[in-house]
Amino acid sequence: MRIIKKKKFELLNRRLFIFGAFKVLSITFILERLYNMQIKQSEKYKKLAENNRINNMFVLPSRGIIYDRNDYILAENKEQYQLIYRYEKTNTNINHIKKIFEYLDVESEKKQKLVLTVKKNKSDFLQLVVKNNLSWNEVAKISSNITELKGVFIEMIFVRYYPSLPTSHIVGYVKKPDKENYPKLAKVPGTVIGKVGIEKSFDKRLQGKFGLKKEEVNAHGRVVKEISRVNGIAGEDIKLSISSNLQEFCYNRLGDNTGSIVTLNVNNGELLSLVSKPSFNSNDFIKQMSKEKWNEISSNKFNPMFDRACLGTYPPGSIFKLIVSIVALNEEDFNPKKKFFCNGGYKFGNQIFHCWKEGGHGYVNCEEAISMSCDCYFYDLSLNIGIKKIASMAYSFGLGKNFLNEFFPTSSGTVPDRDWKKNKFNLAWTRSDTIVASIGQGYVLSTPLQLAVMVARIATDGNNVVSTIIKQDLKQKPFTKAVSLNNKIFDIIKKSMYNTVNNDSGTAFASRLINSNFKMSGKTATSQVRRISMSEREEGIKKNEELPREQRDHALFAGYYPHINPKYAFSVVVEHGGSGSKSAAPIARDLCKKLSVYTNEA
Ligand SMILES: [Zn+2]
Repeated sequence: MRIIKKKKFELLNRRLFIFGAFKVLSITFILERLYNMQIKQSEKYKKLAENNRINNMFVLPSRGIIYDRNDYILAENKEQYQLIYRYEKTNTNINHIKKIFEYLDVESEKKQKLVLTVKKNKSDFLQLVVKNNLSWNEVAKISSNITELKGVFIEMIFVRYYPSLPTSHIVGYVKKPDKENYPKLAKVPGTVIGKVGIEKSFDKRLQGKFGLKKEEVNAHGRVVKEISRVNGIAGEDIKLSISSNLQEFCYNRLGDNTGSIVTLNVNNGELLSLVSKPSFNSNDFIKQMSKEKWNEISSNKFNPMFDRACLGTYPPGSIFKLIVSIVALNEEDFNPKKKFFCNGGYKFGNQIFHCWKEGGHGYVNCEEAISMSCDCYFYDLSLNIGIKKIASMAYSFGLGKNFLNEFFPTSSGTVPDRDWKKNKFNLAWTRSDTIVASIGQGYVLSTPLQLAVMVARIATDGNNVVSTIIKQDLKQKPFTKAVSLNNKIFDIIKKSMYNTVNNDSGTAFASRLINSNFKMSGKTATSQVRRISMSEREEGIKKNEELPREQRDHALFAGYYPHINPKYAFSVVVEHGGSGSKSAAPIARDLCKKLSVYTNEA
């Protein structure tokens, strides 16, 4: 046993010795290598370590393009050249940056700022954008003097560009991400995020995916070689249903007025125009905006940032009479042929509710009451049917509902009823409230977008038309019914809307389409924004022209085209434009003329 043990020890000792010897050799080798590296080759390695660095950089994906329905660009990426000063702290020289100013037009304020940044810098490496958007002349000047300039680089970047001002509310804009909400993204130079409109709601799809590259850069900041690269994935393009041509036409047609024009295809809900005037210029918002520019925009009393088409709420005025009529026509005991006598005023209790037509309309039936827009007829009618049924029908036709709220902030407007008033004011609904609501005044409010949808539902005999801003493919399913109603109801409503424009007693007769087989149908509205006092009524109601702008009535028109097999529904709102027939209907007529040109195309 002992012998065996001893032998074992010997074996172990030998092994230990060999292992130990190998270890010593290895250590010696390593030490030698280290010595060699650190001492003998120190100069060589020192140089490399000092001068070259490995940069990990994000590769920015190109942002998706936003197109209109006919492939016109609404948002694109434009090449821009910027001048960059890039330096190591050790090589920093104030004279470098001052030298650049000899070849470049830079505002004195910016110059001071840049010099100060260079002076103050304590980090090893800093990169400054000296100037954005260089002209070709500047690029040429810098390039031909590049040997004199230290740390100077001209880099091509892509900057978002928006060619169409009238679509700014829809398309929106991009901006540099802020540090608080986007701590990671904010660190990536050149990256942007959608802040408003389609740019915001489709940001993820437009953005694409970031790539990554590793590159070796020398002390002068020049890339020596690319070590590795994973390309990003470009953002998706978005195709809107908007026709930029029609959008521009509508915007211009509103002239000096503020307001909105919304046009949609009744068959698939595609919006062709969604105009809010005035508008802003998206390009102004991409970069840091100057104080002067911001003051100019924010002090504009017409608030160009406000999206009137989706957020502007207006009393729908007489357009609302269409809803009241539909409710009545849906009642079994209602006789549309029955005449009502309008003497210009409707007595209810000790109040008198006036018709817009002084002296009254005389005897009118339902169709005539719509096309001549008799108020008294609807005061009387609404008391018979009540607010509950009116409100319910208004909802079925899209009032009180949000459309496009997956894309933009939108308003649902107001369809008032008993509960609404109780919740809002803790007051009971009165029959006077019903009378006022019957002509779309008082608490009733709707957006231009809702009015266009409402008419689209009428034009399609009650289809549940829902608006969209995205170009639809042909496979889209047809709309189901929003409400089940007898087609005869729509026959009467549509005939009345036809007569409003095309019968010489209609309120929009002056704006009818002449010399055309296809006619416009619709309804005018003049919606009051002020209360008319008894004393004013006795002395004579002031004309719109005599009033300050903000007290003048809004002018509205909602209609469809053509009158047979309607394809488009639209709403025109001219803020404080006076009467609907004088201000809004002529714009609607011109819109239809325009639509007739590309009925086949759009
Ligand atoms: Zn009347």
